[in-house]
Amino acid sequence: MHNVTLIKGDGIGPAIMETAVKIIDAAGVSINWEYAEAGMGAYEKYGTPLPEATIASIEKNRVAFKGPLTTPMGKGFRSINVELRKRYDLYANVRPARSWKGVKTPFSDVDIVVVRENTEGLYSGIEHYVGRDKSAAEAIKVITREGCERIIEYAFQYARDNNRKKVTVVHKANILKLTCGMFLEAGDEIAKQYPEIEYDQKIVDAVCMHMVTNPHQFDVIVTTNLFGDILSDLAAGLVGGLGLIPGANIGADAALFEAVHGSAPDIAGQNIANPSAVILAGIMMLHHLGETEAAQRIHNALVNVIETGDQVTRDLNPNGVSTTEMGDAIIAAM
Ligand code: NAD
Repeated sequence: MHNVTLIKGDGIGPAIMETAVKIIDAAGVSINWEYAEAGMGAYEKYGTPLPEATIASIEKNRVAFKGPLTTPMGKGFRSINVELRKRYDLYANVRPARSWKGVKTPFSDVDIVVVRENTEGLYSGIEHYVGRDKSAAEAIKVITREGCERIIEYAFQYARDNNRKKVTVVHKANILKLTCGMFLEAGDEIAKQYPEIEYDQKIVDAVCMHMVTNPHQFDVIVTTNLFGDILSDLAAGLVGGLGLIPGANIGADAALFEAVHGSAPDIAGQNIANPSAVILAGIMMLHHLGETEAAQRIHNALVNVIETGDQVTRDLNPNGVSTTEMGDAIIAAM
């Protein structure tokens, strides 16, 4: 029996998470789901977006399955997603983007894994106004040598463990000579320990252009926090949208699994959101828990349903079905 903290989240979160949990339970994995709250819903109910009970639950279980959380724009409380990643030192954010049969996109056979540094960089949260009249504002980008080394090491080890052929370190060291320069130095050093894996380094703006003209040259991409956030959405666009990309947040002794997308307030409450990203996040969690067979079974069923194409949500087929119906089709396919 595995103990997992389950946070359904805001907006489309409850609908897609309930669907994913139903599928994981139907696969026969024995999980004790410990319900916890966070985000805007928790803030409105308890006056805090991250209640103590939620912290205690993750502290105990060390594995969490989380729906998207709403963060107020430009004011209000700070992102709880960023807070959880920092609190549990979930330094590696792994976001795989693969083409799907049955999803029409400009390229087929795209298979890119973005490994994003998750705790430093411009998401360090050090921001302030400058001058008495708030005439300017600055954000401080913090990069540590240890932070660079452990994320690049993670990416190379991920490549080795998953039989991937190439790691591309993405940076902007021509302009950000110290911060991105440190990241690049770590890449050069660590690549030497993985001689069987091809090592490449590219500037982030060039990577954006190359990803949309020849995405097949990329395999594993490792980069700093902000670049990783942006490039993983770009990768999502290449393979059919945000509804299809999961994310694992991995630390030395805790892990949190979620979709890359947010709470999608524009479609919340309509039971039309694509549950695939959180189902894929659930599959990553099952691998993390050693439940490989169940993970594979759910994956095969999802591939089957997406390829068949009539029991998918409307972002994939305008004549498609609801979130719940897509979930039921996946269970039937298992
Ligand atoms: P979003 O990802 O919620 O939505 C962007 C677009 O993609 C919207 O048009 C939405 O309808 C669509 N979309 C997203 N997920 C979908 C799905 N599963 N199926 C079908 N369509 C889907 O991004 P946003 O609108 O910029 O952010 C909304 C809120 O979510 C913000 O408060 C933001 O801070 C938060 N957010 C949370 C997380 C997280 O919890 N990890 C990640 C990103 C954004």
